[in-house]
Amino acid sequence: MNDNIRSLWNKRPIIISGPCSAETEEQVLETAQRLATTGKIDMLRAGIWKPRTKPGMFEGIGVKGLPWLLNAKKQTGLPVTVEVATAKHVQDALQFDVDILWIGARTTVNPFSVQEVADALRGVDIPVLVKNPINPDLELWGGAIERLQKVGVKDIGMIHRGFSSYGNTQFRNAPMWHLPIEMKRRFPEMLLICDPSHICGNRVMLQDVSQKSIDLDFGGLMIESHIDPDNAWSDAKQQITPERLSEMLGNLVWRSEDISSQEFITALATMREQINHIDDELLTLIGQRMKIADKIGEYKRDNNVTILQTNRWNEILDRAVSKGEALGLSKEFIIRYFDAVHLESISHQNKIMYDQK
Ligand code: PEP
Ligand code: MN
Repeated sequence: MNDNIRSLWNKRPIIISGPCSAETEEQVLETAQRLATTGKIDMLRAGIWKPRTKPGMFEGIGVKGLPWLLNAKKQTGLPVTVEVATAKHVQDALQFDVDILWIGARTTVNPFSVQEVADALRGVDIPVLVKNPINPDLELWGGAIERLQKVGVKDIGMIHRGFSSYGNTQFRNAPMWHLPIEMKRRFPEMLLICDPSHICGNRVMLQDVSQKSIDLDFGGLMIESHIDPDNAWSDAKQQITPERLSEMLGNLVWRSEDISSQEFITALATMREQINHIDDELLTLIGQRMKIADKIGEYKRDNNVTILQTNRWNEILDRAVSKGEALGLSKEFIIRYFDAVHLESISHQNKIMYDQK
């Protein structure tokens, strides 16, 4: 990796933008120039091969788009990144001096494909960004990263692009923020950036989702930008013009993790200590709750009663939701929390029913 790319790779935040797909040479060059003019972009992106959910949609311009990108790079000085899904894509991209590769969500789900890409990268010194798999499975995401590490890829980053979920939500791909946060915990040194375009699937929420990722200490953004978004050949609804992107980036607040004043450090330490205390108390209480559930389990066992009693469970939830709401806790949180506690109780009671008799 040359020094330019090395310093780009280490820059925070790193901002990547460009069209969902390279369509024509003019479109690629004009997008690149207008993005470069903003002065806020570190790197150009463009899809050359597009894995599409349904046949008949635009499947990418293919190899012939690579010289366009190389041209855009020469004209603007911006390095470029493309998505690769096969060994051939890797070879083609390398031939046209692509600086960073990314693996798309539909590829990360498939260990065969990821392994094929990894094998093609053995001995190649190029950074690779790995998008999360379409489904919320952190083992698959981590597995793809490990496959790259195993062949010797040294510079790996992660892109959070949201997860597919059944039914309509306000997002195209639900962000499920706790999942990228868990990946950050598993790979603390690794670059993690957010792709709000594929999370939102529309233009209106882009700024809020971008800001949310910044507030969660993501290291950068990949946002799709098109000179004529409404007429884009793919993902038209979510793309924005370079000028709109510039405006949006200007509105984002990049908070730093740097700690400056002594007063701030002390206040923060005190509050963190308070949180630790409360967490300890909560854990102790949950432990006590489980002990009571164990007792109920013994009682159910001795009286031949089923473990799950739906009415009782509904009663617990109703109580908790109304109490929680009065305390400013959302219904979603209460349900998720009580589901987890309930599952743990059931597994305790199962043990009692079947292991100890
Ligand atoms: C893309 O970046 O245009 C793309 C296809 O994204 P994803 O793999 O996240 O769906
Ligand atoms: Mn796209």
